[in-house]
This record gives sequence, structure tokens and C-alpha cells, in this order.
Amino acid sequence: MAHSASRIRNVALLGHSGSGKTTLSEAFLFNGGAISRMGNPADGSTASDWDPDEAERGISLHLSVLPFTHQGIKFNVMDAPGDPSFQGEVISSLSVAESALLVVDAVAGAEVGTELAWNQTARLNRPRVILINKMDRENADWDRALESLRTVCKGSALVPLTAPVGQALDFQGIADLVNLQACLGDGDAWTDIPDDMADLVEEHRLALIEAAAETDDELTEKYLEEEELSAEEIRRGLEQGIARGEITPVFCLSALSNIGVKPLLDALTWVARPADQAPSPLAEAEAWQVAADGPLAAMAFKTIIDRYVGRINYVRLFSGRLAKGDTVVASGRGTEERLANLHSVLGKELTPLEDAGAGDVVAVTKLTDMVTGDALSHPDRPVALAPAAYPKPLFSVAVTPATRADSTKLGQSLSQIAEEDPTLQVTQVAETKQTLLQGIGDIQVAVAVKRLEAKYGVQVRTSTPKVPYKETVIRTGSAQYRHKKQTGGAGQFAEVHMRVEPLERGAGFQYDSEVYGGAISSVYLPSIEKGVHQVMAEGVVAGFPAVDLRVVVFDGKEHPVDSKDIAFQIAGREVFKLAAAQAGATLLEPIYNLEVSVPEGNMGDVIGDLNNRRGKVLGMDQEGDRSVVKAEVPFAEIMRYGTDLRSMTQGRGTYALEFLHYEEVPQHLIAKIVEDNREQDEE
Ligand code: GDP
Repeated sequence: MAHSASRIRNVALLGHSGSGKTTLSEAFLFNGGAISRMGNPADGSTASDWDPDEAERGISLHLSVLPFTHQGIKFNVMDAPGDPSFQGEVISSLSVAESALLVVDAVAGAEVGTELAWNQTARLNRPRVILINKMDRENADWDRALESLRTVCKGSALVPLTAPVGQALDFQGIADLVNLQACLGDGDAWTDIPDDMADLVEEHRLALIEAAAETDDELTEKYLEEEELSAEEIRRGLEQGIARGEITPVFCLSALSNIGVKPLLDALTWVARPADQAPSPLAEAEAWQVAADGPLAAMAFKTIIDRYVGRINYVRLFSGRLAKGDTVVASGRGTEERLANLHSVLGKELTPLEDAGAGDVVAVTKLTDMVTGDALSHPDRPVALAPAAYPKPLFSVAVTPATRADSTKLGQSLSQIAEEDPTLQVTQVAETKQTLLQGIGDIQVAVAVKRLEAKYGVQVRTSTPKVPYKETVIRTGSAQYRHKKQTGGAGQFAEVHMRVEPLERGAGFQYDSEVYGGAISSVYLPSIEKGVHQVMAEGVVAGFPAVDLRVVVFDGKEHPVDSKDIAFQIAGREVFKLAAAQAGATLLEPIYNLEVSVPEGNMGDVIGDLNNRRGKVLGMDQEGDRSVVKAEVPFAEIMRYGTDLRSMTQGRGTYALEFLHYEEVPQHLIAKIVEDNREQDEE
């Protein structure tokens, strides 16, 4: 039975690694009747961590779709990995979820992953629900966890809707502060809240009512006059405040012992935003409304290339209906295809489905080339949806095939791996002749390399990428060269006088002749140019391509018999080397714009470190309690910046990179680069 969009809740499950997301999803599925026993993340038996790599590493690498039903409401939980390397999966989950559940460990309180997830949901404007998990653990402390959350989760009022009955080893259940009843153990029976909690309940109940009252003028007025709101008014106020992100409700529970999970699900039926109130997914700002019988508007948010099934795309239907056998068209491809297969998803399990309605999440298979970010619509009513924006790569490795057999399979395997993860890119760098695999973080790239071997049987060697230096000249220089071979057989003769001049950055290459009076026939000018190009491609300083220069042939000599194309090519090559040396041939290096966001306290360290990296700090800004530093930094100095920033900031720093331009390498560094490059080439 298809659920109407108003009875569907798509929620992204986020949090620091180890906060209990996987365990909680198991508890959700178990309570919702979707699985018959709770699996264990440690042995890979959970519905959410289904990839063998996940079991091996003990962390989630992919988002998983986990649907279940509670009180007639269908939940699609998108469990996203906690490691910052995999933030692409978090973005994918959030792009199709109306709200985010943020899981926090009751012993550790707010952690780095909590802060990063909070900031990400703020950027994407998603309402949040905080879950203080592991209330049963020794040293679990609800007050302390709340306190630490308040220091990190800025810009929204954190309002507990449940309080723990006992805590740590004495955790028995939860007290619901809205309906003023308690739910003890793993059942769903409600009883009275223990008397000794009266003060605590009073305090938090008051905070909750005040928060509800502040969300609208009518409620504020009534509360000021009567000092009271009805149960219905409290809920309405909270609902409004939560949907607008002004209020973040906080729940407590133990996923492992399944205490507090059922009452949480009860609350989520109204606290989580319904699918028909999802923000507009359209690319253009137009009127938007979810209509079950309107045009199909769906978006692929995850691509898996499965060895047996082939291409699988997880798809969120924003509006309209999708049925098996429909003719569909994917944006960006434009070709119509018949949808042969439609499925519901539960972790790695796909179950055939006849049709699906607005608001739901399903899987489609075998649609040609369909990838994450593509919109799916019916050909007669095409829609343009805004794909999620993913961050640019920050970490790269150069990959080289281990054997010739690996070499033939490498290209396709790499591109399939990149299709499965929108934050992975494969780039061919002309300057260094290297293939780079680029991603957000080291773990992500290491997992991808491992997958190349495990899934595609391709072995590669990885290394730190070479910097794509270029070469150029800094002043005008000239030289002449005579090529003469006149011993036995046909002779060769060519003499060329050449000037090399610098051009501005990005100007490329210019070639001109100032030969007057026929000193060299014009047929030989292209021969000389060919020789110049051969040397420019290989460089004259350290083996990098030369750019941004003008070559002028201004004189020369030829021989009536021995002059020929090859002789002028050779002379062109040699005279260019000499003239370029006269013109101060040197190296250019890529410079990147770097934007670093760190907690205020780390700013001094970060700036000092950038100075050591030859960075030019352009400015500093304050965003809340974080400092944002903008700088121009040579690429050679920031290839492993992520690792260093992580240790400087205990993982709290984030950064973005954008290529800016090429600049001259300072003279004192050139000898070392030439040396290093010679060594690399010899390896
Ligand atoms: P994830 O990385 O966020 O998916 O976290 P997991 O679900 O894998 O949990 C990490 C560890 O915390 C596992 O050893 C779980 O058994 C444990 N854990 C999760 N929830 C609870 C809980 O409610 N109480 C206790 N005591 N341990 C929990």
C-alpha cells in the first residue's frame, strides 16, 4: 500500500562515529517490525552496514535507506556515515530528507562529529532532532551532555521533550515532558512519572511551554495572559518552532537496550516534518507543491554499481507517481527509457515493487548511465531539479597500475568507483602525466583504492601526486644555432637565430617570423616551430611543459642542397634551448585559494602554520564562534593539509580549496624541485 506524502517522514540519521546510529537504526527497524532481531554493528550483521568493507573497518562508509512503519507513518531513515571523509553521503542523505536526527553519546556529550553535522544541517536549513543515546552507559550524564550540546549547537533553542528516569547503570526509562507520563523498560506502556522527578519535570516543562509560546503571537499573548497553554497549543507551538529550525527538540534513550525508542518513534510522528512539506527541490524558484497526481519529480541521491544487479539508483520522489513499466527520462541524458524494475530498499535488500508515490524513497535499476544528482521525470512533463552541492576534493593520490593487465582495466574501474561517490573524482593531469584519484579525506580514498582491488580485481600503486609545475621565461633572450652534418651521404644544414620573450600568464604560445630578405625560406618556419614544440612539451628546467612565451625567428641561413625539414627541426630545438636559458627559464607553480574555518582559539596556530607554508593571508572573518581565514597558498605546500589541520584543531577545522593561478616559484626552491623531480622520474 502506498503511503500518502503526509504520512511519510524521510529523516537523515547523523552523528559522530560510534554515537550509536547503526544500533539505533536496528532498534527502529526492530520496533517497526521490519526485522525480527537486532543485529550487531561489531560483526556486520546490521541492516545498515551491509558492505564487507564496513564490517572490516567497523565504520559506516555508505548511507543506507532503512524504511519501517510506526503508527501508520512510514519512516525512511537515511543512516549516514559519521567519519568526515564521507560527508558526501551526509549531503546526499540531507538532500532528500526533510529533517535530521542527530545522535549524541550521553557519556561523551557533543563531539566533533556532532558539531560538523550541526553545521551542515544549518547550511542546508534542515530542522533537527537531537537524540542523547547510551543513557544506560556507566557515567552517562544527561545534564552534562545537554550542557555540552548547548555550547556547540548555536542558533536554535535546545528543548528537552523527554527526561531520563534514572541514568547510567540505573537508567529505567523516560519521562515525556509533553504528555507528562513515563515509559519504562523496552515496552510501550505509559505510567506515572516518579514523584521524585517533580522539580526536574517542572523546570523543563516550563522551558518547553515558553519555547512553544514564543513561536507565534497568538500563543505568546495567551500565555502572557493565562500563564498556561493547552496540550494542543503546546504541540502546535513546538511543531511550528521545530519546522522553522528555531526549536531543536532533545530526546534521551538507550538504543542498545531499546529503552526510550518507542516513545521517541511516537514523538517523531509529529516532530519530524512530513514529506509533503519538504522544501522545494526545483532548480528555479517557482511555485511548488507536492501533488500525488502531479508530474513526476524524482531525484537520484545514491548510485551503486553492483556486480550482479548492475546499476542501482536510490531515488526520492518529490511529487507524482512512478510505476514499473513507465517511460522515464533522466536529466542530463535526454533519452527515454522504459523503467523495467522498481524496488523498495532495506539496507542491501531490494524488493520488487509495482509503484511508488510522492514523498517516498525507492530504488530503480539498470537505467543507462543514471547517476546521483540526475532528475527523473516522465518525457511529456520534464522537470529540472537542483542537485545537491558537493564539496570539491581536498585529498589526492596518484594511481599507477601494478601490471599491464591492470592498466587496461584501470580507467573503467576508476570511473565506476567515482560514479558511486559524487565526492570522488578521477583526473588526468597533463603536466605530470599522472592519473589522480581525488576525494574529501584519506580514509575515503584508501577505501576506494581497496575497492578497486576487491571489486574489480585491479591492483594499483599509490603515491603522493607530483605538483603540476609549468615552465616559462622571465625576460627576453636570444641565441643562434647552426646544425651541420656534411660527412658522407646526404648532408644536413640549418642555422636559426631566435628570440624568446615572456608573455602574460595564461597567454599560451606565440610564434612569429622577422626574417627579411629570404635568409631562410618560409617553408622551413613550420619545421623550426615543430622543433620548438618538442622542447616546450618536455621543458628546459625540470621536465614540465613551457607556457606563456613568444618565439621569434629573426635570422638564419640555409644551404641550397643540404637544408631540409629535419635539419631545421633540429636547429629549432637546439636554438630554443639556448634562447630559453638566456631568457631566464624558470618554474611556475599552481597557487590555490584556501578558506579555513576553525574554532576561534585555533586561529593563531592556523595563521602561523600558513606563513610557514608560504601562504599569503588575505583576510580573517568571524562567523559565530568560528574564525574563517582566507589565504593564497602554493599547492605544493597543502597537498596533505587535511591531516595537519586535523591535528592542529582536533578535527574541528574544515577547509575548501580552489585553483587560482600559476605564479613563479621562488628562485631558492628551484634546485630542490629539479632534484626531486629527477629522483621521481628515476624511480
Ligand atoms: P555508529 O558508528 O554511530 O553507527 O555507532 P554504533 O551503532 O556502531 O555503536 C557504537 C558502539 O556503541 C557499539 O559498540 C554499540 O554497541 C554501542 N552502543 C550503541 N548504542 C548504545 C547504547 O544505547 N548503550 C550502550 N551502552 N552502548 C551503545
